[in-house]
Amino acid sequence: MPEQYSSTGVEAGAANRNMRSIEEVRSLVGQKIELPSPPNIVMRILQAVQDDDSCFAGLAKIISADPSLTAKLLRVANSSIYGFGGRVKNIESALSILGINALKNIALSFIIVRKCQGASTSVFDFEYFWKRSVTAAVAAKMLASLRNYDSNDIFVSGLLQDIGVLVLFQHCPDSYREVLALKNSTETPGHIIERQFLGMCHAELGGALLQEWGLPESIYLPLFYHHRADCAPYHYRTGVELLNLADKISAIYHSSQSRNNVADIFQTLTSDYGLTEKEIKELIDTVATRANEVLSFFDMSGDEIRPLSEMLQDANQELGKLNCSYEQLVMDLKQAKEESSKYVGKLIDANKKYRELAYRDELTGLYNNRYFQELMEKELERSRRYEHALSLLFFDIDYFKEINDNFGHLAGDTVLRRVAEKIIQIMRGCDIVVRYGGDEFAVIMPETGREGLEVFAERIRRGIEEMIIPADQASLQVTVSVGGATFNSKNPQIDKRAMFSTADKAIYQAKGGGRNRIHIVEI
Ligand code: GH3
Ligand code: MG
Repeated sequence: MPEQYSSTGVEAGAANRNMRSIEEVRSLVGQKIELPSPPNIVMRILQAVQDDDSCFAGLAKIISADPSLTAKLLRVANSSIYGFGGRVKNIESALSILGINALKNIALSFIIVRKCQGASTSVFDFEYFWKRSVTAAVAAKMLASLRNYDSNDIFVSGLLQDIGVLVLFQHCPDSYREVLALKNSTETPGHIIERQFLGMCHAELGGALLQEWGLPESIYLPLFYHHRADCAPYHYRTGVELLNLADKISAIYHSSQSRNNVADIFQTLTSDYGLTEKEIKELIDTVATRANEVLSFFDMSGDEIRPLSEMLQDANQELGKLNCSYEQLVMDLKQAKEESSKYVGKLIDANKKYRELAYRDELTGLYNNRYFQELMEKELERSRRYEHALSLLFFDIDYFKEINDNFGHLAGDTVLRRVAEKIIQIMRGCDIVVRYGGDEFAVIMPETGREGLEVFAERIRRGIEEMIIPADQASLQVTVSVGGATFNSKNPQIDKRAMFSTADKAIYQAKGGGRNRIHIVEI
């Protein structure tokens, strides 16, 4: 084994060895690999067909002695491949209808495949190997008929074109496992790696083997050269080309990587074979149906090979389904988007709600002190910018503590709630009322000067004074002391703190003046 593998090195090595003749390969094989001996019956068949006088009778005798081979030959003779529709009843009639060469080749195919069948493993898949070979053989035979080439010989060449792979795998399994691993990992064609590792490729080995077994040149030479068509003797070039094209057609059915070959195949069949697109499609489909038939003769039915047109139809349907699921996907996405925007909406609502809650006083539902602080900043800023008047009003329930003490805390709460409701009734839409804390409330009055403040303050004072609040089986009445401050927006000294302390002082004045009264300050 070479220590290191490089694909360029491999290709250069392969090129050097490209000129090797079958004799050289045979002597190399002799040094490296012990070739399997041919099954006895192969020798006898080949001998029988060489012996012109007794050829017919001799071949019939050899085949008839093998009942399973006879049955298989008759099935093939009556199959769609030859189109004699059940008229071939025995080996003699098969011989006369199909001819000696055809029958000999079918027999050899069965015998050799039977010898080379094995159980598939994770390393080597015999079923795949033979399915691909049978498909190639069927394709080669059909192509040969179109080119007036001997279709019986090319069938065997096609069938056995990769038999060298089996020999290599069975005789040097470790090396060949490495070849397969490299082939898969580097995607380099197998025959190039084989030449580097083993000094020959499977095509050369297979050709040498079949020559050794005594098969005719018309079978083994196209096979020998199928990976180096340019070196093939002139009169076998067509055979080599047929094998290559057949292999590509087989790959349509057996190699996912080779679907790209379809365009090449169509191109060759149009230019070299003069076929129309419809004829090409029919040919490729027929390869599949006939290959299924031949596989059944070899007892290798397994999963049916599906004609290309069916595969394409399925692919289109799958594509349709994909489109369908694409549309479904779009719908789902749309729905998900709608739902998510619904959730986003809900989230925004919830946030608003939480924000509101954060700014609301739980007991009265009025805005709380935090909101008041923020709002004051904005209103102050606004009144400065537009030079609008701004008033702030504080009021505090008089002797509220006594209500709590005399009627209980719950009654006190009721009073606070009713006062809040009353303020909301009284105030204007643009005013903002807050519960400043405890029994103290504040009202921000944008665009309101002293006059407006006085009117509003009196309305509050009187409105609360007149209230009768039912609480804890008693009817309560409270009063408030109101302190108001009106600000001159042109005064640069005015800030939030100044406003609060002024309003606070004003209420203090009102309390000090006897309660249930108003005190207004202008700054
Ligand atoms: P003043 O006339 O000087 O305002 O006397 P006051 O009794 O109203 O005294 P102050 O304003 O200092 O007392 C406020 C009282 O309000 C004290 C506290 O127990 C009560 N209070 C504060 N928050 C609540 C509340 O949420 N519910 C109830 N029931 N009472 C509260
Ligand atoms: Mg009070």
